[in-house]
Amino acid sequence: MAEAFIALGGNVGDVRASFERAIALLCEDGAVQLVARSSDYRTPPWGVADQPAFINAVIAVSTSLSPRALLARLQACERALGRNRGHERRWGPRPIDLDLLAYDDVALHDFGLTLPHPRLFERAFVLVPLAEIAPDRVIAGIRVRDAVARVDAGAAEKLAASPDGHSPRTTA
Ligand code: ADP
Ligand code: MG
Repeated sequence: MAEAFIALGGNVGDVRASFERAIALLCEDGAVQLVARSSDYRTPPWGVADQPAFINAVIAVSTSLSPRALLARLQACERALGRNRGHERRWGPRPIDLDLLAYDDVALHDFGLTLPHPRLFERAFVLVPLAEIAPDRVIAGIRVRDAVARVDAGAAEKLAASPDGHSPRTTA
């Protein structure tokens, strides 16, 4: 089994409920198993400013899928949860975005799949939840706790666990 980190984000509809559905869908067979889930964070929009705040979280999974098959599953989950890429602006509003941040120590730059995720180290909304569940993970030679110290982490506001949702878990 490989270890993968997945970023969840969205700013349309009940995003926290969509996260729960996305995690349930991703893990509906044994090929993807949830290992850890960060808290949810409210973060300012990135890229395109005139849109609602985003909710972001990161999960760690263990998986028997290849990186490409895992990405295909993430995209199938996005579609199942109402994402239609044909109708959205780059970095604009979307019900859910699922990004593959890292897959073991695989480095690749392929059509439609780059690992580790190319914008990981610039994004506080990814690094803050990632640091909550995997501060000591080293990605592309950089420890997550050091990467998060370099970004404006104050912009990410941790949300209390939702009453009907999953409580945050860490690998610690
Ligand atoms: P973003 O996640 O940057 O907001 P999209 O979700 O629309 O944008 O993704 C754009 C493209 O990025 C997708 O078509 C996908 O093939 C590609 N991509 C490349 N590497 C990755 C990765 N590691 N995780 C997710 N998508 C990726
Ligand atoms: Mg994406």
